[in-house]
Amino acid sequence: MGSMEDWESALDDIDWNDVLEEVDGELLENLARELRFGTYEALRKSSRPLGDGFQITRLSDGNWAFWNEQTYVQEDIRYFDTVQHFLHFALEQFNLGEEEVRELIQLLDQTPRLKRCAVCDLHFNPEDEARRELGIEGIYLDEENQEGECCSPQCAVEAVLHEMKEG
Ligand SMILES: [Zn+2]
Repeated sequence: MGSMEDWESALDDIDWNDVLEEVDGELLENLARELRFGTYEALRKSSRPLGDGFQITRLSDGNWAFWNEQTYVQEDIRYFDTVQHFLHFALEQFNLGEEEVRELIQLLDQTPRLKRCAVCDLHFNPEDEARRELGIEGIYLDEENQEGECCSPQCAVEAVLHEMKEG
């Protein structure tokens, strides 16, 4: 049996902050996967902060996902099929003043509706600044009919390579 001291020194060697951060990071990645994002960073960038850790994500199917980056462990993501339903909930749940309601409506109005990639099936923001900077307007598998939109040039290339292999 290992002595108690060995145990203690082993425990002392662990940096608990690192461990907790890792667990936290893992859970955030799970949250991102649940909403069909490749990474938490991608989810975060495609969402709008509403204050107090709350975030709203406008999914490709038209649903609004409401979640909190601080309390996501205890609280599940809430989905709303229309923005009106979400507003109704927000007004009931939070004590919002007139000005705050106006700001919230404006914020929701500016929340980009996401799309899902025809290749990797993950959400992406068609209005993403990085895409704009790269001059990516829209990459389609079928350019002519503008169908099968891809999240990135990488996915478009992958689709072509796949087709070549199949063919
Ligand atoms: Zn993709």
